[in-house]
Parts: sequence; C-alpha cells; structure tokens
Amino acid sequence: MKLEGKVALVTGGGSGIGRAICLAFAREGASVAVNDIRGESIDETIRAMGEAAARALPVVADVADSSAVRKMFATIRAQFGTLDILVNNAGIGEVSGQGEVERMNRVAEAQVAEMMAGGPVKTRWGVTQSMDDGVFERMLRVHLFGTFHCTREALKVMEDKGSGRIVNISSVAGTSGLEGAPHYSAAKAGILGFTRSVAREVGIAGVTVNAIAPGYIETAMTEPLSPVVKQMWTMNTPLKKSGKPEDIAAAALYLASDDGRFLTGQVISPNGGWWMP
Ligand code: NAD
Repeated sequence: MKLEGKVALVTGGGSGIGRAICLAFAREGASVAVNDIRGESIDETIRAMGEAAARALPVVADVADSSAVRKMFATIRAQFGTLDILVNNAGIGEVSGQGEVERMNRVAEAQVAEMMAGGPVKTRWGVTQSMDDGVFERMLRVHLFGTFHCTREALKVMEDKGSGRIVNISSVAGTSGLEGAPHYSAAKAGILGFTRSVAREVGIAGVTVNAIAPGYIETAMTEPLSPVVKQMWTMNTPLKKSGKPEDIAAAALYLASDDGRFLTGQVISPNGGWWMP
C-alpha cells in the first residue's frame, strides 16, 4: 500500500473528484480526514470506504472561512496528531445557481447553431461586463482563498515535521482559459501561481507542492451543462471523451505517494489532450 500510516486531508471530499481521491487514499492505507461544506455528502464518502472507514474523520467546514479552517485543523490534530498530505480540491462551478449555468448553455447553443448555419457567429458571452462583485469574489474565496487557508494551516504541521505533500486542484480553465468563466479561470490560474511560489518556499523543509489541472471530468459540477457544451468540450479533447474522477485520483495518488517524491511546483494535467503546454 502506497500511503500506509499516512494522514491525509481532502477538501470537498463529499463528491466527484474529491470523493475518488478519498477512496483511493483510503484504499492505499491512509487515514483520511474528509472535508466538505455538506455533512451528509461526507458521510456517503466515508461509508463507501468499507473497512477503511474506521480510520476516517468527517470534518465539515467552508474552506473560504479561515476561522472554520483553523477549527478543522485543530480537530484533525486532536484526532491524528499530524498531517502528511493535503489535497485542496473543494470547488464550485458557479456561484449564483442554475441561472449562471443556463446562460453559458444558451450562449454555447446559439453559437453552435450560428456556426452550423454557415456563420457568422454573432452571439456574445457578455459575462465579464455584467458580473457582480459578489459572484467574482465568492469564486475566488472558495478556490483561491480556500487553498491558501488550508495550506497555511497544513504548513504549520508539515514544516515543523520536515515533510509533507500538498496537491492543489486547478483546471484547464486556469492553464488555457475557459470562455464564460472569467472568475473560475482567474481562481484556477491563481492556484497555479500560489503552487509555484509555495513550492519554492517550502522545498527546503521537505514539503512538495504540486497542482493537478483536470480537463473535462464527469461530476456533479459538469452535470448541469447542456449536451451542446459537453459535446464542444469533448470535441476540444483529442481523446474525444470526458475523464472520470478516478483519472484525477490516480494523479493525486502519484503526487502524494513516494513515487512523486522528486516533483514540486509542477502541474500535471490529465485532460485527454485539451491543453498541451
Ligand atoms: P463536485 O461538485 O462533484 O465536488 C465539489 C465538492 O466541493 C462538493 O462536494 C462541494 O460540496 C464541495 N465544496 C464546495 N464548496 C465548498 C467549500 N466552500 N468548502 C468545502 N467544500 C466545498 O465537483 P468536482 O468536479 O469533483 O470538482 C472538484 C474540483 O475539481 C474543483 O476544485 C473543480 O473546480 C475541479 N475541476 C473539476 C473539473 C470537472 O470537469 N469536473 C475540471 C477541472 C477542475
């Protein structure tokens, strides 16, 4: 087992990619603190661990709230006394609900229809010029501030200990940009800059910090997208298919285990070819 005796915290572990990472880590022998903002989803993840559920700890917290994150780390320290692996995965695809998704769906459908009719494509996204401060801010708070809040607390343990693994979930939206999602793309690109800076800072303490930038993965986050958007994204992917949460869990396991010991400040992008640096 690749993570025997290790203690891991996975944020947003109640669904999709986070759940797959929790299950992979538990299967490889780790004790997993499963965080989510939704307690019932944490319970489902822990139940799916089977026997390894006995080593799991549920920790409900909003990662955007620094005091809630501090309390979460106090709970983890009280239970396990240490932390070896942090996966900053918690995330949202939209802030203000289905309306934001519907708008993206409608624009994409109109653009495809215009293209199929021989063009020109005239329907504009019009997203950035009409975005509220609060929507932009909440997106950055969950993804970028959340990653910062958890990393800050984790380093208090890991730097003292002289070892640790931090894995930050970014996106191809952060490497190549995603139309109609300026807030999400900015947050995910910010995570990459943060990853590289902290990797340079804490390498001397034996802590590695890397990012994963998934392509289009089938989860609850992408489920509300219209078939047209899903087909556009699949067309944008040279392998011509979407990925599964397990594809990302495999990369997280690599970075968190001894196999990934010489990587830091890197971006691994399981994306079917969507983005090629
Ligand atoms: P998901 O919606 O299935 O899971 C996200 C989880 O994060 C949910 O359980 C949710 O409750 C939790 N969460 C949301 N806000 C939180 C907060 N403030 N504090 C704690 N938990 C919170 O989505 P997913 O697709 O599994 O996404 C996981 C990560 O992968 C996200 O960071 C997402 O941006 C990223 N990502 C997803 C895709 C994709 O195509 N699905 C692609 C690239 C990157």
